[in-house]
Amino acid sequence: MTDRPGTTASIAAYPMEAPASQALLDRALAVTPGGVNSPVRAFRAVGGTPRFMVSGHGPYLRDADGREYVDLVCSWGPMILGHAHPAVLEAVTTAAGRGFSFGTPSENEVALAEEIVARVEPVEQVRLVSSGTEATMSAIRLARGFTGRSVIVKFAGCYHGHVDSLLAAAGSGVATFALPDSAGVPKEMAAETIVLPYNDLAALEAAFAERGQEIAAVITEASPGNMGVVPPAPGFTEGLRRVTTEHGALLVSDEVMTGFRCSAAGWYGLEGPYAAGAPDLFTFGKVMGGGFPAAAFGGRADVMAMLAPLGPVYQAGTLSGNPVATAAGLATLQHCTPEVYDRLTTVADTLTAALGDELGKAGVPHVIQRAGSMFSVFFREGAVVNYDDAKDQHVPAFAAFFHSMLSQGVHLPPSAFEAWFLSAAHDDAAVDRVLAALPAAASEAAAAFARIDA
Ligand SMILES: *Cc1c(COP(=O)(O)O)cnc(C)c1O
Repeated sequence: MTDRPGTTASIAAYPMEAPASQALLDRALAVTPGGVNSPVRAFRAVGGTPRFMVSGHGPYLRDADGREYVDLVCSWGPMILGHAHPAVLEAVTTAAGRGFSFGTPSENEVALAEEIVARVEPVEQVRLVSSGTEATMSAIRLARGFTGRSVIVKFAGCYHGHVDSLLAAAGSGVATFALPDSAGVPKEMAAETIVLPYNDLAALEAAFAERGQEIAAVITEASPGNMGVVPPAPGFTEGLRRVTTEHGALLVSDEVMTGFRCSAAGWYGLEGPYAAGAPDLFTFGKVMGGGFPAAAFGGRADVMAMLAPLGPVYQAGTLSGNPVATAAGLATLQHCTPEVYDRLTTVADTLTAALGDELGKAGVPHVIQRAGSMFSVFFREGAVVNYDDAKDQHVPAFAAFFHSMLSQGVHLPPSAFEAWFLSAAHDDAAVDRVLAALPAAASEAAAAFARIDA
């Protein structure tokens, strides 16, 4: 790919100077590993200086240098109503005024649990925790306690938080007994995890044929968003349910990202109910905390009854069901009306269409995939159905695209393997800013392809 129109624009302008953010990063680097409290924030995949944000309102973030960005990360999903939504702010302020944490039960916890149970039909009971990682960790322990088995099946490219036994992602994409993806995870722990390629029922059936009696659960992202957006192929979720049921294993649907975002009932609301039956357990986080640390796992009442204090599976948390976090989550869910989901759909339609147009005009190989209003672009030809496909893309083109967008005031996820997140606060003015930035960014992506091909 050479000498296409629009491939000559210079990217010398990036990484753009961000002196105030850089000064904060320098301070952070002295006291925090890598300067960040969660790795993807460090911009390692795209280079440049991560922006230290000072404030957020509606669809916008403002950084330490005083620049404003349209936010297409939305805190990786939670800010579905936009930043500092007035009703959520009021709920949080009111709750905080009554005390921060009681270490006792309180009404907001009940109300939030009721809201979740009312929305996701198969979920009869939930237990609240403080992060998605805790939710999946606890769901796995519960599945093991319920079945008396220890092996967990997960899919390559699915992220379920930084739980030891779930960090085995086995990059090869071939059905394999996993090696840990992280130092510090014992081999023995990873050996209890089977990693399979996503969207491959034959691989699942083969694994169950071999070790079905040992498998406690299959955990899957309801619709994966952590390798970019890779929805389940038609029939895949049904197949997971059928095979697990046949072998007495539980099915855990991780809706931490998709829950209350893809629809009022999450991915389940779009794809379910399933003829083969519902997943036994679900995990939630992100949107249900409204930007505060609140998450949950839940499902069948007979499985949930295994949890302490009713049953023998121990699980606890000093701040679980925190009154301020639950107030934020409850207010957020209560304001996730049909109009909110309609708006998300409209904005996703507009942005994906324009993104496809501009990349097409610039001659950039790309495929855009969607799950509800979540979407991502892969810089490659052809649909992405699993992690191997996702990795087979032109990452430098994404970095070029990303920095062009950033320099034009659009804050994208700083990785080619992440979904873009919208909020109902993304009004036409915010959308127009994104649209205006796309042509130049598409040219930069084309230029990056041209440099590699040259
Ligand atoms: C974000 C995420 C998690 C982990 O949640 P944290 O709150 O970051 O611990 C788990 N599963 C999925 C699908 C996620 O997207």
